[in-house]
Amino acid sequence: MPQAIIIGAGPAGLTAAYALLKQTDIHPIVLEQEDFVGGIARTMIHHGCHIDVGGHRFFSKDPRVMALWKELLPVQGAPSLDDRRLHRDCELQQGGPDPAQTDRVMLLRTRLSRIRYLHHFFAYPVSLSAETIRNLGFVQLFKVGISYLCACLRPRKEKSLEDFMVNRFGEELYRMFFRDLYHIRNNPAQFVLANFDLFSRFC
Ligand SMILES: Cc1cc2nc3c(=O)[nH]c(=O)nc-3n(C[C@H](O)[C@H](O)[C@H](O)COP(=O)(O)OP(=O)(O)OC[C@H]3O[C@@H](n4cnc5c(N)ncnc54)[C@H](O)[C@@H]3O)c2cc1C
Repeated sequence: MPQAIIIGAGPAGLTAAYALLKQTDIHPIVLEQEDFVGGIARTMIHHGCHIDVGGHRFFSKDPRVMALWKELLPVQGAPSLDDRRLHRDCELQQGGPDPAQTDRVMLLRTRLSRIRYLHHFFAYPVSLSAETIRNLGFVQLFKVGISYLCACLRPRKEKSLEDFMVNRFGEELYRMFFRDLYHIRNNPAQFVLANFDLFSRFC
């Protein structure tokens, strides 16, 4: 039987292995350096608290990705406890699982992500909107504008995600909003244990 070696048991590696198993006769072998799976999208337990290091919501514009998620985690067919307590109207899938009965269920939620920075809330994903400009203030805005201009005039050769971000947002906005995220990426466990502070910026 042909075999495929997949390095890393994060969402990408696990999805690749799942697709190979489902659609081909190739036998996937997933090699993971850590003693857990899920990569930075896993939920870690620290002093009894469940902490999502990275991914905590499923959202995609790609219908194939949505279909895969729904296949693995069917959409809720009954209101969950918090839906009932908060009197929240939610879209339910007929015949879907009841969250009170099983954990294998996708809960539907509206989303609003914001970064708290300079005592203001900024939209996340970050955009150069009127609100962002207002929150930044003149000095910061000037720095952001100059660094964005530099990025447009002298774009980096895109060899990393950092280069990609700097080219689109400029060095200053990248430093403010994205750099720390890459620190998480490099060493999520150490980051979570040593620096809860950044998490308070994500609301
Ligand atoms: C703060 C934060 C919030 C996020 N929120 C969301 C969200 O709400 N929704 C969402 O969809 N996404 C979110 N993401 C992004 C999501 O977590 C990532 O896109 C996803 O985890 C990427 O999956 P991956 O498999 O490519 O990489 P990773 O999750 O990084 O997994 C890579 C795996 O490979 C292993 N590995 C690396 N090198 C080796 C090696 N040499 N040998 C063996 N194993 C190796 C690693 O240990 C790891 O387990 C968020 C990310 C962050 C940081």
